[in-house]
Amino acid sequence: MTRKFDGTRILIATHNAGKLEEMQQLFAPYGVDVVGAAEMGLAEPEETETTFIGNARIKARAAVAATGLPALADDSGIEVEALNDAPGVYTADWAEIPNGRDFIMAMTKTHTKLEEINAPHPRRARFRATLVLAWPDGHDEVFDGRVNGTLVWPMRGKTGHGYDPMFQPDGHDITFAEMDPEQKNRISHRADAFQKLIAGCFG
Ligand code: IMP
Repeated sequence: MTRKFDGTRILIATHNAGKLEEMQQLFAPYGVDVVGAAEMGLAEPEETETTFIGNARIKARAAVAATGLPALADDSGIEVEALNDAPGVYTADWAEIPNGRDFIMAMTKTHTKLEEINAPHPRRARFRATLVLAWPDGHDEVFDGRVNGTLVWPMRGKTGHGYDPMFQPDGHDITFAEMDPEQKNRISHRADAFQKLIAGCFG
């Protein structure tokens, strides 16, 4: 049985203002007060696990330990089948440069690796987002969201972020970066995980 959330406040263990805003909208109908990690002065823990669940759990548990509030954390990335599901939890790391992140470089690296091994087309990939809702008594619930698609090259589109310009979701002939954000937000891996969270803990 999935545990229902019956509190009035939830801590969102993210320092990303966009994610926080998205969660605030999501929880608005449930009368839950949403608090952000930055607002509570929380540090960002190191993501030392090798799975999405492991890293999301680190973030959720650290936030619970620091505040005593139930906390929700997420971890996400893209898995490329022909690369044995890389970059996966290391998606952001592949974009790391000395003064920030460069996703054009990360996408080019991904494409180059696929060319090097002569990976057949279509080049299948999936975005994944894992949500962990953790309570102060040690219990947690995990929700795994995904969206399947193919990688295209050259990259196409200007909206979105990260790997969006090379990812074409199944059932569409445009990439995530060519979609308007509302459309992407309806079908994304994050939307899938959110829907499962709402159905499981808030339904
Ligand atoms: P994190 O979950 O904030 O650690 O993000 C992991 C990385 O996955 C991000 O830096 C993005 O590059 C990538 N990623 C996650 N979701 C998306 C998406 O919807 N579009 C493009 N890239 C994404």
